[in-house]
Amino acid sequence: MDSDLIHNDSFDPEDAYAAEQVEWLLQWNNHLCMESDVAATALKMQLISVNSLKEKLKLKLDQLGEMLGDACSSLEHRSTNKLDDEFQTLKAKLEETQNKIHLLIDRDLELRRTVEQLTHDLQFVTLQKDQLTIERDGMVLKLEEQESSYKGMVAKQDQQIRSMQVIISESQHEICQKEALRRQLLVDLEGQEQVHLQQMEAQRQSLVENNEDSITCSICWVTWDADGDHRVVSLACGHLFGHSCIRNYLMRSESCPICRQAANFLHIRFIFGRHVLPNQTQ
Ligand SMILES: [Zn+2]
Ligand SMILES: [Zn+2]
Repeated sequence: MDSDLIHNDSFDPEDAYAAEQVEWLLQWNNHLCMESDVAATALKMQLISVNSLKEKLKLKLDQLGEMLGDACSSLEHRSTNKLDDEFQTLKAKLEETQNKIHLLIDRDLELRRTVEQLTHDLQFVTLQKDQLTIERDGMVLKLEEQESSYKGMVAKQDQQIRSMQVIISESQHEICQKEALRRQLLVDLEGQEQVHLQQMEAQRQSLVENNEDSITCSICWVTWDADGDHRVVSLACGHLFGHSCIRNYLMRSESCPICRQAANFLHIRFIFGRHVLPNQTQ
C-alpha cells in the first residue's frame, strides 16, 4: 500500500535514480518489516516464556508464602513454648535468687552484728593498748633510769677494780720484797743454825768433858759409884766426893778440899739424884 502511494503521488519517471532509490527504500522497508515481524514473534515467544516463568514464580511464591506461614506458625508455637520454658526457668532462678538474697540479707545482718561486736571489742582492745602503752612508757623511763644508775655503778666498779689492781700490784711487789727478805732471813737463819749447831757441838763436847769432871771424885780422881764405899756424897757447901775418900779426908782436915769451907762428918749427905750417878746412867 505504501509502494502504491509512492508510485502514484511522488514517482517521477524522469528521475531513474530516484526510482531506484525508492525501489531500494521499498525493499529496505520490506526487509525491516520482515525483521520487525521476526522480532515481534520472538518478543511474543519471550513474552509467553516470561508469562510461564511468572506463573511458575507465582506458584513458587505461593508455596513459599505457605511455607513461610507454616514456618511462622511453627516458629511462633516453638517460640511460645520456649519462652514459657525460659519463663519458668527464669522464675525458678528468680525464686532461687530471692532465696539467696534473703540468705544474704540474714548473713548481712549477722555480719553487721559481728562487726558491731568486733568494733566494741576493738574499742576495748584499743583502750587496753593505750593503757599498756602508758605503762610501757613508764617502764621504759624506769629502765632508762636504772640503766643510767647501773652505768654509774659500773664506772664506780671499774674505778674500784683499777684501784684494787693497783693495790694488788703493790701487794705483789711487797710480797716479792717479803719473799726476798724471807729467803735472806732463811739463809741467815740457816747460817745462825749452823753456828748454833757448831756452838752446841762445842758445848756438848765441853759438857761431856765437864761431865767426866763432874762425875769424878776430886780426891782420888776416880768416878764415884751409885752405892758401896765410894758412893757419891756432898758436904754442906755442895761439893761432891766419894764417901770413903771424904771420910778419910775429914779425919785429917775440918774443911772442904775444894772450897775450904768448914766441914765435918755431920755435913755428909747421900746423893740420890740419877744424874750424879754415872755408873747407873752410863
Ligand atoms: Zn775418892
Ligand atoms: Zn766445898
